[in-house]
Formats: sequence, structure tokens, C-alpha cells
Amino acid sequence: MPGYAVLAHPWWIALLFALAVGHLTNVCTTLYLHRSATHEGVQFRPVVEHLMRFWLWLTSAVVTREWVAVHRKHHAYADKEGDPHSPAVVGLPAIVFGGVFFYQKAARDPEVLEKYGAGCPDDWVERNIYTRRSSLGIVLMLVLDIYLFGIVIGPMVWTVMAIWTPIMGNIINGVGHALGYRNFETRDRSRNIYPWGLWILGEELHNNHHADPRSAKFKAHWWEIDVGWVYIKLLSFVKLAKVGYARSLSAKEFAAKHYTEKVAVPVAEKLEKAGEELEKAKARIDTAKTEALAALQPPEPTVD
Ligand SMILES: [Zn+2]
Ligand SMILES: [Zn+2]
Repeated sequence: MPGYAVLAHPWWIALLFALAVGHLTNVCTTLYLHRSATHEGVQFRPVVEHLMRFWLWLTSAVVTREWVAVHRKHHAYADKEGDPHSPAVVGLPAIVFGGVFFYQKAARDPEVLEKYGAGCPDDWVERNIYTRRSSLGIVLMLVLDIYLFGIVIGPMVWTVMAIWTPIMGNIINGVGHALGYRNFETRDRSRNIYPWGLWILGEELHNNHHADPRSAKFKAHWWEIDVGWVYIKLLSFVKLAKVGYARSLSAKEFAAKHYTEKVAVPVAEKLEKAGEELEKAKARIDTAKTEALAALQPPEPTVD
């Protein structure tokens, strides 16, 4: 069977193909799903938007409305009870190794879709193919991979593709809220995993993103690299994209303007903690009261 493969050899072509597919999926995820459909910081020409939607269907089985709704809810409750996937709530290992299951749980909740899924594509192809047949695309990709690389390498290439999106999601949603540096004292625990967003195209700059979610540009310092933003600039240059909003202030100016609550945040946290302590103290008083009342009760008469 491997002999049927058009590009069965050499092996490195299969590797390059898998990396290229993964890269394109990352491009569509950060540009279309995240920066455009969810936060509306950039709009693409219909032809580009359709190509990205088609590619995501073919390689990830992600339904736009589900992704958008879950991610908007994440921003609404970031690192608090109600966040669909927060390492602060359920622990870092749970998100890094199983974040996809938290995502699926929220994506299957009709209330989440109803409340946070507004404005997503609702055309014929979305309803009848991308949503109703959301897994058909990756099945077609499996057929294509087997055709190109044979019955052994083909499924291996396909597996890399199939686990690519969940792994990337788990890293951003887990590590991006646990490890790294912060430019902005946001109320959540978001962090910039790494200053050079090469691998996941700027999504590494997660604290910058949480500080100003609508901005199509994630980089905040000149030395930070946001490859997704480079793609947006290129598409804008050839009139295939239109930036709605991109942060123009420097990190220092933006922080001074919007995050002067560097002092207020710790105070709010202290107040919250004091409230919790008060509740605990009240509970202790109630217990002591109950015990004291019980002690005052006359002893049961003993029968000789
Ligand atoms: Zn986040
Ligand atoms: Zn976001």
C-alpha cells in the first residue's frame, strides 16, 4: 500500500507537510478565530475568511461559534469560578494535559453558546457542513494524507494534525495563565509565555492580550515579536484585511492609562480575603455557640 503514495519518500517531505499544515492551522486560529471572530479587532475579505474557515474545518473540526463562545466566556471570568479552563481554578496539570475536555464541556453547553456566541457566521455552508458535519473535514484530510504519504506515514501525518490544535490550546490556556512574565497587572493571572511569538504566532503574549483583548496586535514592546500581527499587516497591505483596532500606545503608556490600579488590585484582593476570613470567623463563632449551648443542657438523667 505505501507504494500508492505519491510522496511516500523521502520522509522529511511528510514532516515538512505536517509542520506546514500545523502552521497554517495556527494562522487561521489566531487570525480568524481569535483576533477576528472572537474579539473583532480585524476583519478579512470574504474570500480570505472563507479560506480560513474551510482550512479549520479540514484540519481541526473546530466549530467557529463554539470556539468563540468558550473563549469569550474565558475572558468574562478569567481565572475565576466560571472560567471554562483556568489553571487557577482546576490546577495547571489538568489544563496542560486535559484542557481540551474542559473546552468540550463548555462548548456543549447551549447556554454558553447562546450567551457568548453572537455574531458568528450563520450561512448555509456553516450550518450544513462546518457545524453539522464538523468531523467530515478531518476524515477527508486522512484520506488525502494516505493518498499522499501511504498507509503508514499518512495516518502519522494526520495524527500530528489532529492533536495539534488541542495541544496548542492546552499550552496557551494552561501555561499562559501560570508561567511567564507580565507587562500589565490585569485582574486575571495571564502571562506572556515567551516574548517571541514564533511558534504559536503571538499567542504566547497572552498577558498583553488579556490587557487589551480587542487589539489585533498582541505585542507591547519593540523586542516582542508577534508573527500573527506580521501576517495581519501583510494582508492589510494587499487590502485583504482591515484592522478595526490595534493598540498604538507603548506598553508603559498603556499600563499607566489603564492599569493604574496596580495598587487597587492588591487592595481589592485583600478586601476579598478579609471577607473570606470574616465568613470563616462567623462559622467558628456559630460552632462555638452551638457547642456552648449543648454544654449548658442539663445532663440526661441516669437510671440506676
Ligand atoms: Zn487567557
Ligand atoms: Zn482572547
